[in-house]
Parts: sequence; structure tokens; C-alpha cells
Amino acid sequence: MKMLHIGKPYKEHRGSKTRLCSEIIIGEDKKIFYYEVDNKWADALCDDRSDAFLVSLLQYAMANALDISWQTPVTDRLVYQLRTIFIPVISSKYNKIFSHIHLKGETTTEELSKKEWGVGTGASGGVDSFYSVLSHLDIPEKSQKLTHLLYVSASNHAENEEELRKDFECNKKNIEAIAEDLSLPMIALYTNEAEFFFKGIINWGALRFAGMVYSLQNLFSVYYFSSGYPYVDITFGDGSENFDSLHFDLFTLMTASTRSLNFIGTGGEVSRGRKLMYIASNDVVKKRLFVCNYRSDHNCSACDKCMRTAMQLYGDGLLQEYDQVFDLDTVDKQKKKYTRKMLYRRSVYDEEIVEAIEKRYGLSAVLRLQAFFIRPVYILWQKLKESGWVMRLFYKLEIDYKLYGEAMAESIRYSKGVGKRPSSKE
Ligand SMILES: [Zn+2]
Repeated sequence: MKMLHIGKPYKEHRGSKTRLCSEIIIGEDKKIFYYEVDNKWADALCDDRSDAFLVSLLQYAMANALDISWQTPVTDRLVYQLRTIFIPVISSKYNKIFSHIHLKGETTTEELSKKEWGVGTGASGGVDSFYSVLSHLDIPEKSQKLTHLLYVSASNHAENEEELRKDFECNKKNIEAIAEDLSLPMIALYTNEAEFFFKGIINWGALRFAGMVYSLQNLFSVYYFSSGYPYVDITFGDGSENFDSLHFDLFTLMTASTRSLNFIGTGGEVSRGRKLMYIASNDVVKKRLFVCNYRSDHNCSACDKCMRTAMQLYGDGLLQEYDQVFDLDTVDKQKKKYTRKMLYRRSVYDEEIVEAIEKRYGLSAVLRLQAFFIRPVYILWQKLKESGWVMRLFYKLEIDYKLYGEAMAESIRYSKGVGKRPSSKE
């Protein structure tokens, strides 16, 4: 099997930034993988071991059938867990995407000496993130109390660096404002992981984030990973390319944790609706909630995530208080259509939202009847979508624009990496 080699990690100062770098060698190819932070956080970057690079590149190597070797030792327990648990389980269940690979290199049992006991979580401005933050600000257990926010560049689209950095800087302003409002220090971390994308990476998020946190291992000892799915519904899925591995993030986090850095899943103990209820009355949330999948500087108020969140707030009777983050007119125009969609789609989130709306405002029998007839077509459509030529025709005929309207159609195209229709191009 071909080898991916992780060179000795080193720090590099570049103006106001410091990078943790390693030369990655794959056959004849050499590339620098780096994590970049403001100089202020340079000491937090850990160049004593290769943990971050191993965790960040593991899925890439498995997707490309590459064994991994390294020059600087990796934490003993981390290698043990990845080798004996993560790699065999994931490569057998998801054998269409991942190969069983081998890890070769020295390990260390030495304790990392840390100056600080950092407890962090990711700040994105979204519902899951706000829940993790607000539920760990004021807790009795001292060792678990949140001390830092981490903001990372995590795009799912392999665009050029300039675009990625633009998005990163754009979102950063909102997160900096959140950190300031909550009086927490924030670390912004940019990485060029996009150069190591693989097909389907969008569904393999937990280790990507874990690798970024490992790069700051001199600071972080505990890290809360916001769960997108309730833990009562944990499943390893069907092994297909479209399955979101965050359904079993607790498993992934367990295999990525060591004595020096412990990942804890949070938010999976409650439903999405309960999470939103928990955070919704907070003034920082009202001012700064950012959930959009489409725009990077404001909520478009039309994409599925914007609508889902807005409709949950509507169901809870709180939407009017969110006029700073949503365009309530845009939401209003789509309310009926989206309620019907939730009625026939019946996703894990939909049922809870529909229930809340019904309880507060009631639901029209016409909407229910329409959804009843659309549901079989919807199920058939989900099957057809698995076929490539059907989708090509679907986009070519611009059926999505007719079905969903321009704003939502374009947000869905964006999330799937499909270009806008020719007549929409700016
Ligand atoms: Zn949106």
C-alpha cells in the first residue's frame, strides 16, 4: 500500500500569524499542511507530537488507501484507539469509501506539560453551538467550565484559498462579537485542509474538527463537540456515501480522546426544539444567531436551515423577537410552503416543529391533505435522486427553480456544489 508520511511538525511565524506546519509526503508529492492562528496563541500550538496531523489526515488516507507513517511521536493511546477501533469499524461499515490502513510510527506515553487547563467549544453562531456555549458558562464543576471559544475555517467546498479566507474573515466578525458579548477569549484557526479533501468529506466532520483542536493541544484539555443529532437515535447508518457520520459522533469522539485532550459530545441529550428553547431568550442569541447554509455574512432567511430555525421560533411564538437576524417578510412568504414540506418530509426535526406550530396556531386541513398526496411522490423522488442522470436532467430543466423558488433552489444547488442556472449568473 502507498504511504502518507507526516514530517516533523514545526512552527512558522508570518507577520501577525503563526502556523503549525508539517510536510506531508505522498509518493512523489509534497505538500505543507498547516494550522494558522494569531501570534497571541502561538504557544497553544503543539509541535511536540504529530497528533493533530494524524487525526486531520486519517480519513483522507483511508479514502485514498494510504498507510500513514510519521516522524515525531503520536500520543500512545490515540494510536491505539484509531488502530484498534476507528479504522476497523469504519473501514468495514463504510467499505465503499474507506480502506483498512496501517499506522506506522513511534508513540509516546509521556504527559504533555500544559500551562493552562483550557476548556473549549466551537463557535459558529448556530443553534447547536450556542447551546454548548450557554450550557457550560455557569456550571458547578470547575474543571468543565468553558474558558475559550474556537472559531475554525471549515468549508465543505474545495474553492480557492482566497475565497475560503474571505468567508473565514467574514464569519469571524460575528463570532468575535459573540465572544466579546460573552466575555470569553476566542481563537480563530485557519487551516488549508481543503487541499486534502476527498469525495464525501462533507459527511465526515467529527475528526476534521478534532484534528484542528489537537493542533492547539498545549491549551485545550477538554473540548465540547456540539452534536447535531439526539443521542437516543445513535446509529452507524447504512454504509452509503450520503450518510452523515455525525449520527455516531459519540463513537468518533471516544476514539479521538486521550488523557491529555478529552472530547465530550454535548447537546445530544435534548431535542433540537428543546435546544432552541434553552437559548432563545438570551439577548446575544437574538442579536447574533447565524444558521445559514448559503450566505456567509447574514441569514438568507430562505435556505432550509434558515427556514427550519425560523419556523421553530415561530412555533415557539418567538419569531418576532428575531427580526435582527431574519428577514421576517421573506420567512412569512414561505411559511405555508415550508409547513407543507415538513408535513410530507417528516425528518427528525420536522415533526417537533410541526407539533409546536399546530399547538400554537392550528394546522389547516388543506395543507395536511396536500402533504398526504405529495408524500408518496416525495419518497419516490428520494429514490430517483440516487441516479446521476435524473439529477442532471433535473438541474438542466431547472425544475428546482419551479418547485422551490429562486432563493431556496440556489441555496440547495450551492450546498450540493451545483452551479446556478445560466440566466441567474451575475
Ligand atoms: Zn439561509
